[in-house]
Amino acid sequence: MKILIVGGGGREHALAWRLKQSARVTEIVAAPGNPGIAALARCEPVAADDLDGLMALARRERPNLVIVGPEAPLVAGLADKLRAADIPVFGPSARAAILEGSKGFSKDFMIKYGIPTAAYGRFTEPAKAKSFLDTLAPPYVLKADGLAAGKGVVIAGSRAEAEAEIDAMLSGKFGAASASLVIEEFMTGEEASFFALCDGETAVALAGAQDHKRVGDGDTGPNTGGMGAYSPAPILDAAMQAQVMERIVEPTVRGMAAEGRPYRGVLFVGLMIENGKARVVEYNCRFGDPECQVIMVRLKDDPLPQLLACATGGLAGCRRLERFADPAVSVVMAAAGYPGEPRKGGVIGGLAEAGKVPGVTVFHAGTARMGDDIVANGGRVLNVTASGPTLAEAVDRAYRAVDKIDWPDGFCRRDIAWRALARS
Ligand code: AMP
Repeated sequence: MKILIVGGGGREHALAWRLKQSARVTEIVAAPGNPGIAALARCEPVAADDLDGLMALARRERPNLVIVGPEAPLVAGLADKLRAADIPVFGPSARAAILEGSKGFSKDFMIKYGIPTAAYGRFTEPAKAKSFLDTLAPPYVLKADGLAAGKGVVIAGSRAEAEAEIDAMLSGKFGAASASLVIEEFMTGEEASFFALCDGETAVALAGAQDHKRVGDGDTGPNTGGMGAYSPAPILDAAMQAQVMERIVEPTVRGMAAEGRPYRGVLFVGLMIENGKARVVEYNCRFGDPECQVIMVRLKDDPLPQLLACATGGLAGCRRLERFADPAVSVVMAAAGYPGEPRKGGVIGGLAEAGKVPGVTVFHAGTARMGDDIVANGGRVLNVTASGPTLAEAVDRAYRAVDKIDWPDGFCRRDIAWRALARS
């Protein structure tokens, strides 16, 4: 089978790496891919948000399956265009990707189908939004309705800050994405991510994970796209996973089908867990990045049959993919300046040595090739991913590999997986 992977980050490198091991995969094409992916696949210079370019590529290549990594092309309707051209695609239609594309839609949907989440209101007028704050206690959670490159959620500590943020968002801070706001109750508890595969009618659990969003050790500093992840997440034990499937994932898939928006692809549920109960923080319509990296490393079974079943139906009766018992961790190496202006162009050495540490795979997230060199070309640049017989051993292996990478501009958090290590 020929697979086309859309995207060029660490998530897509991990997908290509895992699918390359499938006995059924003969060729992988990536658009646009990256220098790490280029070792496994043919990379075509088409951007992940260039829907016309991607359609032209897909018509030319006629892949047996297209796997769409990032959310933006899904929300923009790439899966719809591919299905209309009879090309199987792993990823939801635009009408289903709205679960991530509109926070307001997803909140209304959860209430309609009895899916546990924080109390909220939706607003387009500043005065009404501000008076809704009377019903809440600080901190205040303000969310731009639409996609805002992961920056659309603001947690305001004071009423004055919340009111200023309401004015800023409703007057275009995130463009059209913040023309409408969700304001919601602040939830306390422990966050975790859960992933399920869906074919429009049926959902099969895939894996749980936890990530670290803040840039600094001890979960301090500004939010990022994610500085590291690990799987499994101890808080998502078997009973909690069963609860999440029964009360959240299955009602979501049934509800979306009832709405005429069958959900196909991976459903990523961001959870807040407290006192044995999980509530939804948000839905995402794609794999997490870097959660995907740890999930792919842990998959024992070939995921291709289930990814295909998501695209074309037939998940009913599929058992959950077998995972290795060994935990996995991924440490993000970012460029100095991230999450602000990352320093680009620094030459990265030691990648081969890092990859020789037992259990380690280094995924490329934001790199470019300059002659014989690999250079930094983004904020999050490498995902040093390791598995091991214990989480502590996996973490130790990942940091041993990090220390072999010679890249003066690079930095990483030194405490990835601290919460799970503290538990054990
Ligand atoms: P989101 O983009 O919706 O995942 O929000 C980004 C982050 O904001 C989440 O990972 C949470 O840490 C936090 N957050 C979002 N909504 C809430 C909430 N209602 N209560 C507490 N924290 C929240």
